[in-house]
Amino acid sequence: MGSIKENLEVIHKNINEACKRAGRDTSEVTLISVSKTKPVSDILEAIDAGERNFGENYVQELVAKTEEIKDDLTWHMIGPLQSNKVKKAVKAASIIHSVHSISIAETINKEAAKLGKIQDILIEINVGSELSKHGIDISEAEEVTLEIAKLDNLRIRGYMCIPPIAEDKDANRLYFRELKQLSDKMNKDHSDILHLDMLSMGMSSDYETAIEEGATHVRVGTAIFGARNYNK
Ligand SMILES: *Cc1c(COP(=O)(O)O)cnc(C)c1O
Repeated sequence: MGSIKENLEVIHKNINEACKRAGRDTSEVTLISVSKTKPVSDILEAIDAGERNFGENYVQELVAKTEEIKDDLTWHMIGPLQSNKVKKAVKAASIIHSVHSISIAETINKEAAKLGKIQDILIEINVGSELSKHGIDISEAEEVTLEIAKLDNLRIRGYMCIPPIAEDKDANRLYFRELKQLSDKMNKDHSDILHLDMLSMGMSSDYETAIEEGATHVRVGTAIFGARNYNK
């Protein structure tokens, strides 16, 4: 691996090429640099290279980093959210990707209302249907989306998924396609209340495939910052 700056150059080149293959404009795709467990100095290096979107998994870490880095950035909360952490998450996050139940949506709505904020959210869909994974089962996606759409202080921007870890670039292509189809169908069938403009899918191992299948936001950590060390 190269420096953070060099890695970002490679990834942006890959993003451009994936867009070209898919007949999409590069401006349709946002790279989220997933900086969880990584020091502020790494984030500053990425900011220096022109990045403005960062993803964090842990509320504590998100809060600490947003307090330390005062640049005007977009912070994406992408990790599983517990209800007792919602208040802090709503204060610190620009957008919460990991809304995995109606009850957590209700809690976010309540905290957003207290702050006078309209909180942008994504609904996490369990595309692999594995029992152990977070996310709304795809068969319940429509019903749950419409229920969450009733909450006044939330704005549903779209869907996100975390499919099984990909063995190769193509392994999750059908899951990505399934999520794109869900998003298109919901926009078509419920155009009076839904305007879904974000699709958060694709990680280090498969972001190019996700872009080919319609991702608007790819979440890339390891390929930018290197392997994570959870023991530090
Ligand atoms: C850690 C994480 C990523 C980044 O994964 P990499 O494989 O390091 O690119 C993306 N999305 C979510 C939800 C994550 O937790």
